[in-house]
Order: sequence, then C-alpha cells, then structure tokens
Amino acid sequence: MSNIIHRSLRQTPPIATHASGITVFDNAGNAYLDASGGAAVSSLGHGHPDVIAAMHRQIDRCAYAHTAFFTTEVAEELAQTLVAKAPAGIQGVYLVSGGSEAMETALKLARQYFAEAGETGRSLFIARRQSYHGNTLGALAVGGNEWRRKPFAPLLMEVPRVSPCYEYRDRREGQSVDAYTACLLDELETAIIKAGPEKVIGFVAEPVVGATGGAIPPTPGYFKGVRAICDRYGILFIADEVMCGMGRTGTLFAVEQEGVAPDIITVAKGLGGGYQPIGAVLAQGAIVDRLRHGSGAFLHGHTYIGHPVAAAAALAVQQVIERDNLLEQVQRRGATLKRMLGDVFGKHPHVGDIRGRGLFLGIELVQDRATKAPFAPERKLHAAIKNEAMARGLMVYPMGGTIDGQRGDHILLAPPFIVSAGELSEIVTRLSEAVDAALLK
Ligand code: PMP
Repeated sequence: MSNIIHRSLRQTPPIATHASGITVFDNAGNAYLDASGGAAVSSLGHGHPDVIAAMHRQIDRCAYAHTAFFTTEVAEELAQTLVAKAPAGIQGVYLVSGGSEAMETALKLARQYFAEAGETGRSLFIARRQSYHGNTLGALAVGGNEWRRKPFAPLLMEVPRVSPCYEYRDRREGQSVDAYTACLLDELETAIIKAGPEKVIGFVAEPVVGATGGAIPPTPGYFKGVRAICDRYGILFIADEVMCGMGRTGTLFAVEQEGVAPDIITVAKGLGGGYQPIGAVLAQGAIVDRLRHGSGAFLHGHTYIGHPVAAAAALAVQQVIERDNLLEQVQRRGATLKRMLGDVFGKHPHVGDIRGRGLFLGIELVQDRATKAPFAPERKLHAAIKNEAMARGLMVYPMGGTIDGQRGDHILLAPPFIVSAGELSEIVTRLSEAVDAALLK
C-alpha cells in the first residue's frame, strides 16, 4: 500500500522511472507516448539537455534566495523576457509555484488594486460556468466545475456566473456566430449590472478552455467584446492562461489571437515545461503603479516565490522555444494533428466535435452526432478512454466536465512542441483504437 494520497485512493498508478522526448517509461518496462504533455505541461518534452544544464548551473550558483532578502539575476531576466513578449501594457511579473497559486495571486492583486483607491466595496468576481481555475479555495470558487466545488461550497466566496463561449453546444440552429457572440456579451453585461458594477472586481476567463472542455476556442470577437464591457464598467479582465498559454495555441499568449490585452494574465504549466513547478502573474503597469504609489507593497507572498532554479528552468524553456522557432512548429504540427484527427474521427458516429488551436486540441464524444446528446455520466467514457489509451502506451487527458448539470466527455491532446509528424500519426492511431475499445465496453 502506498503512503501517498494518490488521486485515486483505491488504485496506485504505474511508477514512472524515466522519460525522454515525448516518451515516459514505467518500472514494468512499458513506454507511453505523452500526447497530453502530462496536463498540457511538457512543452519541450522530457529530458531536454539545455533546460537541465540551465538548472544545474543555477543550483551550483544559488539554489535558493528568499525574496524578503534578495532578488536574483535569473528571476529578473525571466520577468524581463515575459514582459517583452506579453500583450501591450503588461509590466509586472509575480513568480509563483503553479497555476492555482497564480490565480490566488491574481485575485488578490485585483482586489488590492481597487482597495488602494478606496474602492473597498468591490468584492465580486464574475466567471463562466464552464471553467477551471485551480483547486485552492479562491481559484476553486471562481471555477465553474460544479462537482469539484460541491463538497467545499460552504468555504467558497459567491461568484456570479455567465455562460461559456461554447459554440459547438450552445449556438442555436440558424443563429449566426456573431449573433451568438452578441448574446453572450449581453449576458455578461447584464450580470455586471445585476451585481452592481461598483461591487465587481473583475471578469475571469480562460481564452481557450482547457480542463473543463477540451480546448474550446472563443468565437471571433468574443474577447474584444469582453474587453470593451470590462472597460465600460471599469472592471478588470483576468485571463487565465495557465493551460492555454506559453505557446500551446501557437502564439506565446492565447489572447494574442484575440487582439486584446488583459489587465492580468496568469500562466504556469508550459512556463517551466514541467522541469520545475512555476507559474506567473503578469499585470498591467497601471496596476503595479497604483500599488507602488499607494501602500508601496503587494500584501501577498509565499516562501518559494521567485525561486531561482524554477526561474532558470522557465527561462531556458522560453529561450529554447524562441531559438528553435517552436511557435511556428506548434502551428504547423497543430494543423497536421487536426487534419489527422479529422481523417480518423471526422465521420466517427460518436465524435461530435474536433477543435482547438495549435497543439491544444480536443475531441468531444457524443452518443448521437445529430442531437449532440452526451453519454451518461455514470458510464465515465472519458476515463475508459484514458485507461484504454494507457494500455496501448498513450497518455491523453480525459475530462467529464460538468456543464450546466450536463456531463460531456472530452479528450484533450497537448503533445510536446517537439513532437514529430510520425509520432503524431502513432498518437492518432492509438487514440482511435482506444476510443473504439472504450465504446465497446
Ligand atoms: N487554471 C487553469 C486554466 C488550469 O488548467 C489549471 C490546471 N489544470 C489551473 C488553473 C491550476 O493550476 P495548478 O494545477 O498548477 O494549480
């Protein structure tokens, strides 16, 4: 019996012993193609020599320096690198250890931004029903994942919720994409007015939805509309790019493709590519300035913020992405993978949608393509596909997200940016076998 409190307390997962490129090996001699990058984390795959060398160098120089006393060159350089590539106006970077920490930090930074100006009556975040923002209490509260929130509901702040931008399921027959988008934006504006704009801190959303929907991109103009509404009511737009950011969708930040600059952006997973636990909060200069000229400090902090070895790993990952032109590779390989998925699943009776951007792609499983009826939740089809895939040496990220009380099954693919066309073909072949085997059960 393991002493670790695993995800499942009934089943211990295989023991990973080593990993290289896009393959993870276990102690029973099995090899698994990492088609999900863990959870959309491993952007450079496993064992990248440049990242490992950068971490070694930093460990030798200085493995840890507490931010109450010091900053480090490597953390400063990482922050500069991120600011240089971030959407317009982003100037401040707060380095944390992961996605949930980044979201907690973002929520508090947004609250303090208004508190500094005496707007202490602002306490509400508005978020979307289909969203995941992390498992700590603040992040869990803004997330729309009902089954995750339910057991902890009494501990969570109230969060008014609006519909997700989920064209495949929610755009009505005959409704234009623009009309659908306008409805969603109306709903957001109505929610702000209903809550009282003077009470709202910000709107929180994932530019491309990950863990609750399997790579759902926004409709054209949706985030431009969100930006305009936030500006109209003087509230902040917080973009959670923990999963979709850092190159995953083919641009460093997913919102770049929407042509908008959020007030706050959170990133994690792909930032350090799994070599170290690291996340970051990126904020507009105006936010940092208000705190600088106000109380002079952000009332926040964790022991491992700005960790130098984590910063070294992230800096190296980002430098490799730039040096090896990997964003272009993500766009190219992403198009190849989407085409391959289309070839194999395009006419599959139980695949309703194939979607996503770059190497952040999802398929949605349905009982009936015409009605889009999902499979019964008790069937746990997504979990069965994951198990069948693992049995065939393939890692895919399964999801059965709760959407308005309805449960849909999705499979997310997020292979490392270095994946080859041959490996993509093998991934799709194994996935197709796994889906069909799970459907037979
Ligand atoms: N936000 C999003 C969009 C995520 O996908 C995740 C992780 N799946 C998180 C936040 C939380 O990140 P972490 O698991 O690193 O705490």
